[in-house]
Amino acid sequence: MKIFKFGGASVRNAEAVKNVASILHRYKNEKLVVVISAMGKMTNALEDLHNARFHKKDYKPTLLEIKNYHLQIAEELFGVNTENNLTALYDLMELLEEKLMTPCSNEYDLEYDQIVCYGELLSTALVNAYLMEQGLASAWLDARQIIKTDNRYRDARVDWNRSQMSAESITSLLAKKDIIILQGFIGSTPSGMSTTLGREGSDFTAAIMAYMLNAESVTIWKDVPGMLNADPKWFKDTVKLDKISFHEAIELAYFGASVIHPKTIKPLQNKGIPLFIKSFVNPDAEGSVIQESVEHDNLIPSYIFKGNQVLVSVTPKDFSFVVEDNLRDIFDTLSSLGIRINLMENSAISFSMCLDKDDYKLEKLFAQLRANYTVKYNENLTLMTIRHYDDKTVQMLTSGKEILLEQKSRHTIRMVLRDK
Ligand code: ASP
Ligand code: MG
Repeated sequence: MKIFKFGGASVRNAEAVKNVASILHRYKNEKLVVVISAMGKMTNALEDLHNARFHKKDYKPTLLEIKNYHLQIAEELFGVNTENNLTALYDLMELLEEKLMTPCSNEYDLEYDQIVCYGELLSTALVNAYLMEQGLASAWLDARQIIKTDNRYRDARVDWNRSQMSAESITSLLAKKDIIILQGFIGSTPSGMSTTLGREGSDFTAAIMAYMLNAESVTIWKDVPGMLNADPKWFKDTVKLDKISFHEAIELAYFGASVIHPKTIKPLQNKGIPLFIKSFVNPDAEGSVIQESVEHDNLIPSYIFKGNQVLVSVTPKDFSFVVEDNLRDIFDTLSSLGIRINLMENSAISFSMCLDKDDYKLEKLFAQLRANYTVKYNENLTLMTIRHYDDKTVQMLTSGKEILLEQKSRHTIRMVLRDK
């Protein structure tokens, strides 16, 4: 059995969904578990929907936009007589509307997950309906019945034991069906609340499924030809890394290479399950494979940019040195708010950290820290990482930039940059 994962771009419109079906047709003799993301930019739209509801604004226009987006794709796939094929989709839309009308608590992250999970639910219902119409033996599963998590909403931690027990049901279902469609990114708490695994978390779902089901491989279908040494959105002369080790891939993903979610690799490495990255535009092309052996690691410079960064520096108000007690304080605060540090540095009297700009969380962070610390920050920064750096690459990538912070190890250089 193989695990496939299709991200938002691969199901962003009717054409794309047809393409997914045509790829699945090529694997007719295989048993497949297919993990799918929300369509196109629907997760962002659902975030807007949640924000409108949470802040008691009019959410109706956004809801309409989300419904129409899916209905338009449905109409292009099925024509106007969509009724029979789409009961699952309509039911989910109704559930979403009902959810929106229930009273909203003041727990932002909890409410977020109850709404945003619909992106994946709607997407998979629609794709599954189309696959069945195309004569593929596929079945839809609610990933929340399989992926069991704790209740750290928006960044839920997987309970592997409880999930493993539910996953057994998939094996028997696969005896009857060839394809199982389920949602990436979502899970549920012991009390049945929906959770999400963090933005871009669908890759991780694919890895969890592979681990639990002892899959022979995972394939992530992307709009790029494989794992590249730089983001083709920003660089034109990218090089494909044909075959790299789990170790190298973890490093790249950890630093922010957007091609795979950082949590994806570890479960696969633990079981030695290879991960293929292939182009959904050109499914015949080789792609990249990530596997155990380090023999083929291509040590050319790879560069990774994280935009929209904020560099925060924290100094104790009493000018005491930043030592363990202060650091524990700061880390506790970050952890309770679910904020990740992208880069950090401490000096005798201050602690600096580079964070994603999330206004809602940062506001809370600053408010809490300001009780004991002076907090200063710089916005609109870029965190750049070069793996296997050389002077030429560093020079090229830092020209015209001011370097606010720099960290260097044997294989990796990282810098917080500001445009001059
Ligand atoms: N739909 C979710 C997101 O956009 C999860 C994913 O695509 O991996 O973040
Ligand atoms: Mg997505």
